[in-house]
Amino acid sequence: MMESEIEKELDPKSAYDQVFSALHEHQNWFSNSIPLIASENVPSPAVREAILSDFGNRYAEGWAGERVYAGCVYIDKVEILCMQLARKLFCAEFVDVRPVSGVCANLTVYSAFTDPGDTILALAIPYGGHISSGRKEFNGTAGLVHGLEVEYFSFDKDNWNIDVDKTKEKVKKLKSEGKKVKLAMFGGSLFLFPHPVKELADFLKSEGIFVCYDSAHVSGLIAGKQFQQPLAEGAEAVTLSTHKTLFGPQGGTVLSWNKYADKIKAGAFPGTASNHHLHHVAGKAIAFAEFLQFGQEYAKEVISNAQALGQALNDEGVDILAADLGYTKSHQIAIDVTKYNDGGTLEKELERANIIVNRQLIPGDIKAGRHYMHPGGLRIGTSEVTRLGMKKDHMKEIASLMARIIVKKEDPGKVRLDVEHMRSSFQKVHYAFETNTLAYKYVNVR
Ligand SMILES: *Cc1c(COP(=O)(O)O)cnc(C)c1O
Repeated sequence: MMESEIEKELDPKSAYDQVFSALHEHQNWFSNSIPLIASENVPSPAVREAILSDFGNRYAEGWAGERVYAGCVYIDKVEILCMQLARKLFCAEFVDVRPVSGVCANLTVYSAFTDPGDTILALAIPYGGHISSGRKEFNGTAGLVHGLEVEYFSFDKDNWNIDVDKTKEKVKKLKSEGKKVKLAMFGGSLFLFPHPVKELADFLKSEGIFVCYDSAHVSGLIAGKQFQQPLAEGAEAVTLSTHKTLFGPQGGTVLSWNKYADKIKAGAFPGTASNHHLHHVAGKAIAFAEFLQFGQEYAKEVISNAQALGQALNDEGVDILAADLGYTKSHQIAIDVTKYNDGGTLEKELERANIIVNRQLIPGDIKAGRHYMHPGGLRIGTSEVTRLGMKKDHMKEIASLMARIIVKKEDPGKVRLDVEHMRSSFQKVHYAFETNTLAYKYVNVR
């Protein structure tokens, strides 16, 4: 293949330097921004230190204490602690902390409890479903990677939740058509209210359906005991991301019961990983320890901040989904921006003002001809601003800054100065044992 002009000109040392300057600029930008992406959070300096360790250069295939390679003495020690902490945090009988992400945790469960060609039940994307439980035609992981057919939970838009009776009817109808559902995946990415696990688990199990709960978004709220407790409510497995409402680093985990341990272990290794990012296992252990100590207080604050932000935006004239239901019982709210603009355009405008949110498909978008580039909504999460120490009153300030862009259409460059000013007093990570290094300080080890 011919080298393009750009690659011919590319000087290695200059590219090397450009990478570092982009990293510096990114961290500087984030330390001056209001980070409201619902799937993100900021880890403590302790977690950042753990993920810089040599663990990240090693292999530890297999289960702690039964590894395939030598050199795992300390790695085993940390992974065993990590599992103990996770079991305590989630009141779980069995955990596997090896999946390297939430998607890999879901794949672990798919491979343990379904075969290609089976049908699963999950949320449709405009109602909050995640692409890892999506159909093949949308390149969803379940369909594309594991050959699963995906049917959707019936959804009750008025209550912003899965419709229990209609879902039962749907399962029976699918069965009468010869489509036997093998697994039901609760949970989602736009996730405002607890799902009816308790109401559906017995029925689903009586139909031979494995009950899984994807807690990627809400695992911190579950661990902090401020949301539903899916294992106690009848879920047979729970998958997590460790970095959304939990304290990071990026990773996955599966919670379950001892009777399913062997299947899940095989799904995690060798099923879906060879190396399992051992530095991140160390980071997860630190994050779980922090969460055991500080998580309840944190999770309470995250939810009360989300509700306060919903109320404050509503007071600014912005339409919030589920306003009649109190906006949310999680860390997220969703805004319907159709009366002002589209979600894609506003996402960019807010970004120019250093307010970082993501556009979101909302119910009605597809029918109205809107798509994921320019959908009708924005999704907002309060995990990271809460970790930075913000409280209810600061949510009012954020709402007013956002409204200056969304409602009043002010120049984002002007709003940015006020965003930077507001952010300047929130530079440390809270809810952690040690917080001396600033949250977004660039760590130089060269
Ligand atoms: C974010 C998310 C995932 C994927 O998690 P990663 O850790 O990014 O792989 C899976 N399921 C749901 C519902 C999510 O929101």
